[in-house]
Amino acid sequence: MKFDFLSESDQAYFIHKASTLVEALPYIRQHSGSIIVIKYGGHAMGDEKLSSSFAKDIGLLKEIGVSPIIVHGGGPQIGERLKSKNISSKFVEGLRVTDFETIKVVEEVLSKDINSEIVNSIRSTGGKAVGIAGNINNLISAKKLNIGLKDSDSNIEKIIDIGFVGNPTNLKSDLILNHINNGEIPVIAPLGIDADKLIYNINADTAAGFIAGKLKASKLLLLTDVSGILDENKKLISSLSFSEAKKIISKDFISGGMKPKIKTCIEAMEHGVNKSTILDGRIPHSVILELFTEHGIGTQIVSD
Ligand code: ADP
Ligand code: MG
Repeated sequence: MKFDFLSESDQAYFIHKASTLVEALPYIRQHSGSIIVIKYGGHAMGDEKLSSSFAKDIGLLKEIGVSPIIVHGGGPQIGERLKSKNISSKFVEGLRVTDFETIKVVEEVLSKDINSEIVNSIRSTGGKAVGIAGNINNLISAKKLNIGLKDSDSNIEKIIDIGFVGNPTNLKSDLILNHINNGEIPVIAPLGIDADKLIYNINADTAAGFIAGKLKASKLLLLTDVSGILDENKKLISSLSFSEAKKIISKDFISGGMKPKIKTCIEAMEHGVNKSTILDGRIPHSVILELFTEHGIGTQIVSD
């Protein structure tokens, strides 16, 4: 055998590698030609090795005919920059209260620093990434978000103003589709703009779900810093139906940033996205594991 110069264990290793590639074939067929929206960062983005493995995964998707669209967060990085400028932050329902001073920092960190970091990382692996800020060319229209919070004693709903935090209202889909048709990988900073040209911070999960819904993506992947949705005993819930996901969102054990995540999965699926997955971006090649292996990882939310 030609392989004789290798030890038996090395032969087994390479044969295993070859069979792994072949086993991916049905998944390649399944995903090729589809749009997959991936929310990446902020917590899942810090580590250099992980960023590089993520960039390679995205390049691979593009090569096999998938159109990945990256929407990135930046929570931890924005937090650090605000801290260095002595600007304090408060969160309501997982969303950062964003005053005028804060939105300036958010815009700078998201659309300059983080966006170019991801674009460069994908480019360095050979992918044709293109950076886009949601507020530029009115890509994402947004309107100011006010949050209604029920007072636990009186049960009266109070409306809370959280500043320049917006909800997406419209997407210029053509701008993104043009990039895809040019063979590019759009990397989008989650900012929006209103008719008065005011810029809004949009939660990256919310932006990703909105874009997935508008472009009729086949899948929405939300990468985060936990293994998925954890139940009241901190055990991973590996699968939820659409109606189960709707029920779980108001449970006490779903808090902070997990609330907008589940909400966005539900909304994306209401707009025709087939499946959403909340998964651990700290695992190397998490995107490939989810899309090209039998079991996948994280919490999948599937149609009823
Ligand atoms: P990201 O930067 O990925 O958007 P977030 O901090 O916004 O991260 O949201 C993920 C966080 O949500 C987790 O780190 C965890 O602290 C919190 N969380 C709240 N409830 C849950 C839950 N039931 N299961 C998993 N994570 C939860
Ligand atoms: Mg978040």
